[in-house]
Order: sequence, then C-alpha cells, then structure tokens
Amino acid sequence: MDDLWDLVVVGGGPAGSAAALRAKQLRPDARVLLLDKDDFPRDKACGDGIAAHGREELARLGVPDLIDDYRPTWHLSVVSPGGAHVSATVARPNHVVPRRVFDARLVDAARARGVEVRRHRVRALAASNGHVVLDGDVTARAVVAADGANSTVRRLIGVPATPDKHTAIAVRGYADVPLADDAQLIAMQKDGWPAYAWSFPIGDGTANVGFGMLLPQLRATGLPGRQVLHGRLAELLPHLPARDLRAHHLPLSSGRPRPGAGRVMLAGDAASLINPLTGEGIYYALLSGRLAGEAAVQAADDPLPAYRRELRRALGRHLRTTDVLSRAARSPGFIDAAIDTAARRQEVFDLLVDVGLGAGTVPLPLAGAVLRRWMTNLARRP
Ligand SMILES: Cc1cc2nc3c(=O)[nH]c(=O)nc-3n(C[C@H](O)[C@H](O)[C@H](O)COP(=O)(O)OP(=O)(O)OC[C@H]3O[C@@H](n4cnc5c(N)ncnc54)[C@H](O)[C@@H]3O)c2cc1C
Repeated sequence: MDDLWDLVVVGGGPAGSAAALRAKQLRPDARVLLLDKDDFPRDKACGDGIAAHGREELARLGVPDLIDDYRPTWHLSVVSPGGAHVSATVARPNHVVPRRVFDARLVDAARARGVEVRRHRVRALAASNGHVVLDGDVTARAVVAADGANSTVRRLIGVPATPDKHTAIAVRGYADVPLADDAQLIAMQKDGWPAYAWSFPIGDGTANVGFGMLLPQLRATGLPGRQVLHGRLAELLPHLPARDLRAHHLPLSSGRPRPGAGRVMLAGDAASLINPLTGEGIYYALLSGRLAGEAAVQAADDPLPAYRRELRRALGRHLRTTDVLSRAARSPGFIDAAIDTAARRQEVFDLLVDVGLGAGTVPLPLAGAVLRRWMTNLARRP
C-alpha cells in the first residue's frame, strides 16, 4: 500500500493541473499526486481557444506567463444561423494554444511545485476509514476527479453520465491560414441547429478549425457521425481544408450533476462544466479545479461542502443564466436577434462574450434589448 496522500488528482488536463497547483500553492507541504492515463505532451480534441477569463485563472494559480509567447487575438466575427453578422474587437484578448502544449506546460508547472505526477489509469475506487482508496493501493484524504468527459471516477461514485440532450459532439482539425489572419470566426448553421463551425488562428500560419452540434441532432440525421461532422466542417469552411481531424463529446453545464460524493470532488468536464452556448470548457476547468484543490487543503475534514459552496458562489448565477439562454437559443431567431443587437451595440457584444466565454450574467435592460429585436424580427417575417 502506498502512503497517505493529502490529495490525489485523477486527470492532468486543465482541471486536474489547476487542482494540484492550487493545493500546493496554499499548502506547500501537502502531499499531492496527479495521475493521468497518458504521458504529456498529449493531444486533446479541442478548439484550443483560451478566453481572457481562463488567463486570469492562470494568474490566480501563480502561472501568469504560461501562454505569453502565443499571440493575443483581439478580433471576433460571428455569423448567426439566419445570417446576422457581427465583427468586433473584444474587450480583453483571447489566446489559441494547442492543447498538446498548454496541458503539458500546466503539468510541468505542477511538477515544479512539488506535485508527484504518475502515468496511471484509474479503474477502481473504494471508501475506507474516512479515506479514498484508488485501485487498491493509492490512499487519499481527498480526490479531485478531473478525468474528463468520459470520467471513470464519476461513474465509480455513482453519478450518472450527462443525458444526451445536454451533450454536444465536435470535431476539430488544423488548417493553413495566412500568418496575418488574427480573427476568430464562428459560423453558425441553421441546419441541425444548434450547430457551428469555427476557425481560431493560432498565430503560426495555422488555425484550429472545427464543427460541433448537439448529439440528438447528429443522431437525427441517421448518418454516420464522422460523415456529418467532417462533411459540415468542409461545407462551412471550404477554403480551410483540415488535417488531423479528431472528435470528442462535450458534456454541457445545462445537464450538470451534483459535483461529487463523499471525499471525491468532480471538476471540469467530469462535472459537465462546459458552456452550453459556446462549448467553452477550459475556463470552467481551471476555475473548478482551483476551487476543488482549495477545498482539499483548506477544508480537509469535509471538502465537498466547501467546494460546492465556492463553486456556487463563483458560477451559480452565471450557470443559471446560461441554462435559460441555452433554452431560448434552441430557437435560432433568438440568436439572430442577439447577434443583430451585438452588431449595433458594443456593450451587448461584450456581454455576449462574457456570457459565452466567462462567468457573465445578463442585466435586464440588455435582455430586453435582445427580446425587442427578436420580436421585431418575428413581426417582419412574412
Ligand atoms: C472538439 C472540441 C472543441 C473544444 N473547443 C474548446 C475551446 O476552444 N475552448 C474551450 O475553452 N473549450 C473547448 N472545448 C472543451 C474543452 O476541451 C474541455 O472543456 C476541457 O478539456 C476540460 O478540461 P478537463 O481538464 O476537465 O478535461 P480533459 O482536458 O479532457 O482532461 C482529462 C484528463 O484525464 C485523463 N484521464 C481520463 N480518464 C482517466 C483515468 N481513468 N485515469 C487517469 N487519467 C484519466 C485524460 O488522459 C486527460 O488528460 C472543446 C471540446 C471539444 C471536444
């Protein structure tokens, strides 16, 4: 039997590394073990888009310069399902960093802070004498399950998988773009809505490109998933032929479960923390990982209630906002109105970015402006 660990983190993506980094930041003498089934660097199907909010989390974790060598992206263009268009400058820049690089840097930072990193796939979990035992020989006071969208630990603690209606699926690839291309593009599609393609230039002459849609809508086509996802991507971004295509599903926060059980806290995708409007999950992963790591060392006797409370404080209102908006957004007309309004008013554009990529909420007057535009558009229809 291994020694007793203060914290064992399962999964070395952004959520897991954030948990490990935070625990050591607050308690440098804490014994923290990070387990991942893969060695780093490793690839992860993702749009690689890191919002300004995610970068703030990096600063909180004590690694503010982690992605400073990547070009900031200030321009964002969005085309709505009905063809409304906004192209504007964001208040704070986003970054695009391949996950092969980003995740490995985070794991390295955790290792440098004294976290022990091991390659190991977790398969079993048991509670014993107020501790958690993983695979029979790793004993922990607390566990952060940050093992992603197919979380094994989530299943082992009896938390059901995210229902299909709250699950999206997306494919991403890489395409060549002019070096000067520095605008992020989101092109929404009415057919199979909600669905959109993206192009996120990295700054090195390539862009991460991809296409995502909800799982039930994909199934409703009756066609093989690969054919639909690859086909729609090629159709929506014909000028950007993609290579290294890789797909994965996204458990959306509209179907989020309780965030753990006993001494196990779920973070990031394992907690279904992906924005249902945009598919953004890195910011939530860093944030929830940080809060779980914090609870593990600051409320070591009973970390889950502390984690749940802080998660609610940080994201509660925002998640309720995105729950409501994602229901409204099932009607493409609502998104047309929102984009139309954003094209006319910079503060609405900024707010949409904050709700889609950060922890924003919607003040009533702005919600009213979008609703009025929606009604006007509806009234104009023949
Ligand atoms: C195609 C696509 C595009 C996306 N685009 C964006 C985007 O542009 N911006 C954005 O913010 N979000 C995006 N997302 C969402 C984002 O990828 C996730 O929200 C994010 O990766 C969540 O991080 P995580 O640490 O929770 O999980 P992950 O990054 O998935 O990390 C989980 C880790 O756990 C490990 N693991 C799994 N099972 C075990 C096990 N049993 N034992 C040990 N280790 C295990 C894995 O090897 C992995 O390293 C996208 C998702 C997809 C699929």
